[in-house]
Amino acid sequence: MKVSIDPTKCIACGSCVAVCPEVFEMKEDGTVDVKSEWKDKAIPEELESKVQEAHDMCPATAIVIEQ
Ligand code: SF4
Repeated sequence: MKVSIDPTKCIACGSCVAVCPEVFEMKEDGTVDVKSEWKDKAIPEELESKVQEAHDMCPATAIVIEQ
C-alpha cells in the first residue's frame, strides 16, 4: 500500500492526522500531507488499517491509496 493526499481536495480538517499521526502530519503552513518518510514508500502492514480508516473517514475524499 502507498498513500498520498490530493492537495486540490484536502480541506486540512486534521482527521487523518488524528487517526494516524504516524503517517499524516499537519505542516507549519496549515496544510496536511503524508510525512516525507512515507511518500512513495510502502506503508508497513501494521499501519495499513489505520491508513485505510483515515481514507474512509476523510470528508473530502482527498486520500489516495494505491495497492
Ligand atoms: S482527513 Fe482528508 S480533508 Fe482532512 S486533513 Fe486529512 S486528507 Fe485533508
